[in-house]
Amino acid sequence: MVFIRDTELSLRAAVALVNTLPDTDSEGVDRLTSQDDMAAYLTEFPFTGAMMRDEKELTAVRGIRGPLRALWDVDRDGAVPLVNAMLRDGRAMPQLVIHDAYDWHIHATEETAPLATRILVEAAMAFVEVIRADQWDRVRICDADDCRSVYVDYSKNGSKRYCDTGNCGNRMNVNAYRRRRARESA
Ligand SMILES: [Zn+2]
Ligand SMILES: [Zn+2]
Repeated sequence: MVFIRDTELSLRAAVALVNTLPDTDSEGVDRLTSQDDMAAYLTEFPFTGAMMRDEKELTAVRGIRGPLRALWDVDRDGAVPLVNAMLRDGRAMPQLVIHDAYDWHIHATEETAPLATRILVEAAMAFVEVIRADQWDRVRICDADDCRSVYVDYSKNGSKRYCDTGNCGNRMNVNAYRRRRARESA
């Protein structure tokens, strides 16, 4: 395992949130526009604490996608001030907690903090681990020529090239195969 389980879970939640942005979607569609979208996201990535399920909360969560997306445009050193700002602005105060089926892990925000703050600080805490482990080159954008989805590579040898959202790896392999066949028959 490249990162501990909590870190990977938090990174997966951050990646999924960023990939709801229209610029990362292959059809240019914003995938987080309604309470239903929000509920689906929270079902896949459960967060503890207060949920308002109102427009203000949705707007705030939509608003942290840009700052998170910015992490994919910087190198390790460039990520440091961005992550520090997220922790500072979110008044992060790491505490060990235990709840539900989870073992001891860190919550860095109060349960009463706004959902967007809790999501952003949790993501920032995970990116702290990526920086500390000097694994920033695993923070990547899909290699497929028609895809801009973001991902984090958790593979042992760090050789993953495509996002996990679509079928990019398969599609690119099929394309390469077709090109090879076309060349052979030409
Ligand atoms: Zn927890
Ligand atoms: Zn992709």
